[in-house]
Amino acid sequence: MIYFDNASTTKIKDEVIAAISQSMAQHYGNPSSTHSLGRTTKAQVENVRTRIAKAFNCKAKEIIFTSGATEADNSIIDNAVNNLGVKRIISSKLEHHAVSETIEQFEKKGVEIVWLDNDTKGNIDLNQLEDLLKKDVYTLVSLMYVNNEIGNINDISKIAELCKENGAIYHSDTVQGIPYFKIDLAQIPVDFICASAHKFGGPKGVGFMFKREGVSFAKQVFGGEQERNFRAGTENLHSIVGMGKAIEVLHSNLEDKNSKLLELKKHFLSKVDSDEIEFNGNCNDFVKSAPHIVNIHLKNVVENKLLVFNFDIKKIAISEGSACASGRNLGSRIVSELGKKSEKGQNIRVSFGEDNTREEIDTFFEVLNAFIEKNKK
Ligand code: PLP
Repeated sequence: MIYFDNASTTKIKDEVIAAISQSMAQHYGNPSSTHSLGRTTKAQVENVRTRIAKAFNCKAKEIIFTSGATEADNSIIDNAVNNLGVKRIISSKLEHHAVSETIEQFEKKGVEIVWLDNDTKGNIDLNQLEDLLKKDVYTLVSLMYVNNEIGNINDISKIAELCKENGAIYHSDTVQGIPYFKIDLAQIPVDFICASAHKFGGPKGVGFMFKREGVSFAKQVFGGEQERNFRAGTENLHSIVGMGKAIEVLHSNLEDKNSKLLELKKHFLSKVDSDEIEFNGNCNDFVKSAPHIVNIHLKNVVENKLLVFNFDIKKIAISEGSACASGRNLGSRIVSELGKKSEKGQNIRVSFGEDNTREEIDTFFEVLNAFIEKNKK
């Protein structure tokens, strides 16, 4: 199988499997138990916390383990309204559903929501953000780092500074940024970020949130005092151990990985026929987009609900948009927000991993060209 769906999830790393297997085989104590078996696993959880904090240049007590980024995004936004008491949320329609749907729930409950404008390339209007922040309303700004469908990078340092100057709380969904860029939390004054281990070679169903010291957080999951009383529930020990290993492996070869991905992206771009294909978002701009995502619009094809299946039977895994929304049988929501018509079969997200090759891209284009030919308007 040619796997071009790394924005959706990544293959678990061998080193991570080994770390998880060892943890499962040797350790089963409940980290909250006070006997030695419990103390051992508690120490393992805290060891991962310390290593993650070091990797992100923050304090261990600012890291809270969660079941992944969806939980973290939900909890952070909920906390902002119900605990911090923000009166307004500023975000964008280009956010992942974990953020946008959570915000929509608060919109229904009467919280003031502002969706920032974006241009046809998916660039968010930061002047509009600055103007809005000048109004004296206690605000949560929720703007992601790297867009999961089109790969656009938001300037999180600038947004964080704007929020800080104007007394707003800043949450950034950094899920798609963490696998490709180091984030120095001592330099960027963001209040909350989140991560999902399966996006960088770790297991599914585990992640973490960063909560800056001094910013209040009231727990959203009740039933115990785990995670310094910020999130109840027995710690997902083996997966947390796996996530710790995944971060370690990630940061040990981030530059090599990125240059490999950039090479693949360059090769991909060199094969694009502009009579047939245009790019969605900034994905063909090496500075304004992350190295792993290319999102293309097929200009001359009719609607085709079987696009993914077409590639699947040729043993190529691609997607049309976020995996979380694939059940809806609609085109990409994000591409629609760029002002483009988005019907099934007209947009493809290709997201590379470091194991991909140029030959796999060549095979993709053979299948794509046949698809375009067969589905011409
Ligand atoms: N946010 C972004 C930007 C994502 O890409 C994803 C994964 O699809 C999520 C949130 C949800 O992460 P998780 O799978 O850990 O719930």
